[in-house]
Amino acid sequence: MKNIQMVDLRSQYEKIKTEINTGIQEVIDTTSFIKGKKVTDFQQALESYLNVKHVIPVGNGTDALQIALMALGLKPGDEVITPTFTFIATAEVVALLGLTPVVVDVDFDTFNISLESLRKAITPKTKAIVPVHLFGQNADMEGILALAKEHNLFVVEDACQSVGSVYTFSDGSQVQSGCMGDIGCTSFFPSKNLGCFGDGGAIFTNNDELAANMRAIANHGMVVRYYHDIVGINSRLDSIQAAVLEVKLKYLNNYISGRQTAATYYNTTFAGNEKIIIPAQSSNSTHVFHQYTLKLNDVNRADLIKFLTEKGIPAMIYYPVPLHLQKAYRDNRYKAGDFPIAEKLCDCVLSLPMHTELTEEQLKYITRNVLEFINN
Ligand SMILES: *Cc1c(COP(=O)(O)O)cnc(C)c1O
Repeated sequence: MKNIQMVDLRSQYEKIKTEINTGIQEVIDTTSFIKGKKVTDFQQALESYLNVKHVIPVGNGTDALQIALMALGLKPGDEVITPTFTFIATAEVVALLGLTPVVVDVDFDTFNISLESLRKAITPKTKAIVPVHLFGQNADMEGILALAKEHNLFVVEDACQSVGSVYTFSDGSQVQSGCMGDIGCTSFFPSKNLGCFGDGGAIFTNNDELAANMRAIANHGMVVRYYHDIVGINSRLDSIQAAVLEVKLKYLNNYISGRQTAATYYNTTFAGNEKIIIPAQSSNSTHVFHQYTLKLNDVNRADLIKFLTEKGIPAMIYYPVPLHLQKAYRDNRYKAGDFPIAEKLCDCVLSLPMHTELTEEQLKYITRNVLEFINN
């Protein structure tokens, strides 16, 4: 059996090696490494995949979030709400821009922002909500958008883990992850569902004015060359990464079904075990399983991880500490116990290997060992 990895990029590459190598070679042959044709081609392909008006390729997912927030014209002290159970990037860019991060609790079943908690956190200073579609499943966007409309707030979706996930609104309309709010942000970090061979990211919007503004911000605040109208940054997707992404986008739907097949195997095998809570399937969103994350009930997690590691099975904790208890973000507004669901999740979650190349033999081996530990 092949070695088990959290993410097996090597095996995925082997299957599309010729196409990828050809794409990269084309960039080298033309030497248009920055803002080349590959970048525009990929941008257009992604716009049509997502059915969104504008895709703005940028340097990484964190830059995407930063540029999005810069484009909203917020002022120091304005409050931006984000879930406390997530990766640091959302709170980080809020803090870097001199805005005030306000964190809220999440829903135990879906790991996503809790609408109840969100509603209570809105104040007259609130200007934006940054929901994170964690682990590959969209947050309750219908509820979030309704709250945003009621309070006149911007919605910037963090779709770094959820590209390709589809949300169904109650009127039956279906929209791609990242294309429901004012702005959506994604990352092409190699292990993401649509990953390149280095750093990359993109911003999505249907709003022409925001798109123009964000394109300028990503390019030193420049519209006409060497005339700088606003303070910007430098954030670009390079042509070699775009060449890789252009190929991989064609396989994204296959990659998603590969992940879903692995998740179904896990779910079926673990179903009914009272010490394991399998990931909940939300009724209005597809799940693209960026991570396959269990909640353990009365299991010694550290010992389980040790046991699995000895068997050659990696397992990770995403995420061990909520934002409000991170050293850099501690302030007197928050203390331990304030967000009990997020804190509980940090203590009981465990992510198993999840990628597009998992074989049935590997899945059988992983689940057999998890159950052997848990049932003893
Ligand atoms: C990966 C990720 C980011 C950051 O993306 P980078 O490309 O690494 O900057 C932000 N938010 C979430 C939820 C992520 O998973």
